Amino acid sequence: MHPEWESVIGLEVHIQLNTVSKLFSGAKTAYGAEPNTQACAIDLGLPGVLPVLNEAAIEMAVKFGLAVEATIAKRSVFARKNYFYPDLPKGYQISQYELPIVYKGILSFPLEDGLIKEVGITRAHLEEDAGKSLHEDFHGFSGIDLNRAGIPLIEVVSEPEISSSKEAVSYLKTLHALIRYLEISDGNMQEGSFRVDANVSVRKKGDKLGTRTEIKNVNSFKFVEKAIDYEIVRQIDVLESGGTIKQETRLYDPAKNETRSMRTKEEANDYRYFPDPDLLPVILNDEFIDKIKATLPELPPAKAKRFMTDYSLSAYDAKVLTMTRELADYFESTIKQSGGSDPKLVANWVTGELLGALNRAGLDITESPIDPIRLGGLIKRIQDNTISGKIGKTVFEALWETSHTADEVIEKQGLKQITDSGAIEGIVDEVLKANPDQVAAFKSGKDKLFGFFVGQVMKVSGGKANPDQVNALLKKRLS
Ligand code: ADP
Ligand code: MG
Repeated sequence: MHPEWESVIGLEVHIQLNTVSKLFSGAKTAYGAEPNTQACAIDLGLPGVLPVLNEAAIEMAVKFGLAVEATIAKRSVFARKNYFYPDLPKGYQISQYELPIVYKGILSFPLEDGLIKEVGITRAHLEEDAGKSLHEDFHGFSGIDLNRAGIPLIEVVSEPEISSSKEAVSYLKTLHALIRYLEISDGNMQEGSFRVDANVSVRKKGDKLGTRTEIKNVNSFKFVEKAIDYEIVRQIDVLESGGTIKQETRLYDPAKNETRSMRTKEEANDYRYFPDPDLLPVILNDEFIDKIKATLPELPPAKAKRFMTDYSLSAYDAKVLTMTRELADYFESTIKQSGGSDPKLVANWVTGELLGALNRAGLDITESPIDPIRLGGLIKRIQDNTISGKIGKTVFEALWETSHTADEVIEKQGLKQITDSGAIEGIVDEVLKANPDQVAAFKSGKDKLFGFFVGQVMKVSGGKANPDQVNALLKKRLS
């Protein structure tokens, strides 16, 4: 639409770490508790209390840093970020400013054309979450729930190197899968465990960076895409009509699909950052970092590569199957359970039939009604020609609905493939006899009718005749 303009996007993502207790207190972090039952004097910043750093949060931040090939700071410092908000009773948030624990990393993610793009991770710093204002159940005033106050977050800040809303979504999905692989966060977007701020600017190609706006707290991938697209068009319109972009914070309204100005952007110096005098600098040694390195799981890109070499999968299948750790594990255990079946056949069943059915039912792979043992049992029977792939779909449906095994379903419903050539010949003859006109037409050159005969034979056999044999026999009979 506007070929002379290009968009530039930088993302800031707040990720809640799944520690048992808070960043600086022993209060619990579990989601969904009664308001204000999980906030202690430290979270409230009452006079005379002292924060105590949670080592588990440090380990998780380091784990993340290693996974994005970042530099881990041997010395990082917590700072106070001062601002007033009703959900921040201390009047400041403990964060990291000049010396974050993780900086200069890289995140690689797939583009639509299958290429891989790398975007710089500027930094990932540790900070505490704020509480939550509740407006819905109150009239004329707001409630404050401080259960969230003090929950550890890492804020992952990207370089302004993302060029479209689609790229932004791919970056985010990759980041989301990564933190779940690392098991440092549940990534639950509805519950606010993964919150996205999108910084957007536009410029004429080749110009220096334009003024950005920041869209706050978007909580689904779809909305991120829409909000960025809206904002790009809005900024171009403003600039094309001679206006200027104000650096400001905007909110996305999904109901109206638009962004609205929320407040002018504050500068860092408005926050009067200073090192928190209650907390010592965090000093890490190589031994600590190496120990965490040893716990890193196989990450999605490495796993996808291994799937391609070990199982001869396409890049696409490998990518789909390694999107989450649970799906990759499901796939690999189905291979084991399928008794040496072709991994490509297994991949087809998992990405096709199973993911399709889960999708329709709105279920996650962890909630699949069919486990790898039963799916593997089904695939085994396709591989050894007991049933055809088509009958496999009937069996699959029965597995989905019941707790039977594939062998039980095949036995009970009499689905065994007919491979006895005598029996198939009988059906072929029957079909040809019943359709003399079509046979004549075929013989006078209407080749397309071959498919009709195959269809008839399969129908008469209840879908059970071995398709290869049916084809061969029909060819013989009709020639
Ligand atoms: P702040 O902390 O005030 O939000 P930062 O300088 O840390 O500001 O940048 C925050 C985010 O904004 C980063 O992800 C960065 O990539 C992005 N960003 C900075 N400048 C631009 C720009 N001109 N266009 C788009 N994104 C930008
Ligand atoms: Mg910011």
